[in-house]
Amino acid sequence: MPHALKNSQEIEIMRRCGKILAETLQKLKQAAKPGIKTEELNELCIRLCEENGTTPTFLGYRNFPGAICSSVNEQVVHAIPGKYELKPGDLVSIDCGMTLQGLITDATISFIVKGKDNPKAERLLKVGEKALRAGIKEIKPGKRVGDISFAIQSVVQQAGYHIIKHLTGHGVGRELHEPPIINNFGKKGQGPALKPGMTLAIEPIIGEKTRHTKTLEDNWTIATKDGSLSIQIEHTILVTPQGHEILTLSS
Ligand code: MG
Ligand code: MG
Repeated sequence: MPHALKNSQEIEIMRRCGKILAETLQKLKQAAKPGIKTEELNELCIRLCEENGTTPTFLGYRNFPGAICSSVNEQVVHAIPGKYELKPGDLVSIDCGMTLQGLITDATISFIVKGKDNPKAERLLKVGEKALRAGIKEIKPGKRVGDISFAIQSVVQQAGYHIIKHLTGHGVGRELHEPPIINNFGKKGQGPALKPGMTLAIEPIIGEKTRHTKTLEDNWTIATKDGSLSIQIEHTILVTPQGHEILTLSS
């Protein structure tokens, strides 16, 4: 299926939506102090959406009960916000989709809760950020999806970490998940060609010691099978005639 290219009007809306999303994620990070419950971060996200005239895309998506996914430590993705209280040194990934005038952006911020050193989490976080940057750097007309995948894979594997292969990036915009699938592993020069007007969610999803996962009893939360750390980090990117523009950056 060909990737739906966005027109300039749609891009302008996604640009505004992405900025609101990025600033919301920064505010959630600032609020993520020891003792706060992940459901309180969820409530804050819903309040910020209301204030900004956006809607939280995840809420009700396939019956997901939250506006954010708040995945902590061994949790990989899709953790439902709840009674868990953040602790100093926790590795947190907050994933959020936001809709503005029918258009969607998708981003994940990852950070370590202040108050306690966590060198293992810090290293994983740094590699995750580096993998995301490497993937984004490949984005320009003339490149292919496999170039992004290969760049992410190279950073992760050189660091000795593991790609959780069944969780992928994707097109985004009119729908939360659009073609193409963007694997975090792959071969250079393969896959769909990148074209101006494409909007892509790039999201390395990495395990510290394993690529194997399990789904918890809530039927949503995916965690590493061995309980080791995991990270997800994500931006929505527009392919431009010259290269790319990150739509989910805060000022
Ligand atoms: Mg996301
Ligand atoms: Mg995504």
